[in-house]
Amino acid sequence: MINEEALDNLVICKKCHTLHKKVALQAKEKAFCQECNVLLYQNDPQMLDKALALVITAGISLFIAFEFSIMRIDIQGLEQTLTLSSFFSILAEHQQYVIEILFLFLLVLFPVGILLATFVLIVFMKAQKGGYLTKRLLILLAHLKPWNMVDIFFISLLVAMVKLFDVASIELGIGFMALILTLILDVIISKNLAFGELWTLHTQIYGVSDV
Ligand SMILES: [Zn+2]
Repeated sequence: MINEEALDNLVICKKCHTLHKKVALQAKEKAFCQECNVLLYQNDPQMLDKALALVITAGISLFIAFEFSIMRIDIQGLEQTLTLSSFFSILAEHQQYVIEILFLFLLVLFPVGILLATFVLIVFMKAQKGGYLTKRLLILLAHLKPWNMVDIFFISLLVAMVKLFDVASIELGIGFMALILTLILDVIISKNLAFGELWTLHTQIYGVSDV
């Protein structure tokens, strides 16, 4: 029978699905797949610091995206400024409550929840405290990740804009730029913060004890 610890010592290549045995890496060393040369895992001593800086920046830019104007639309002299909160009040005015709740979860609660959970996770792991809490947060984040849909909102916004360009003049606001920045940071964070490496780090900090 294969026990969990033995599985922990194996790593599968994301690209070609070759199974590799994990070896301990020195600081800043990287392990690549023998077959296709894809990066398997790395030992980046600054991973948590980098991620923390990115998460704080993403939090600020998400806040700006929520607070400031995403765009100003001018339809034949009729001007309207669209912010995320005005977007929600428009939905409420039209009694689209189901869509409103859906958007509230996808655009506000999940992204904010993910950033907040990541922030708490990194702070506790850096302080080497809260073994149980950080383990729970890692599991929670793995569940939440697929629900991070700022990118989908952004794409639907682009589609709507292309349609509006014919009939209206659109001026992009600070919120729009912040939304793009959040999106880019999001991608960088998920690239930087590999769950496999986080689990390895978790075991290194707190040990394998069943907390
Ligand atoms: Zn491979």
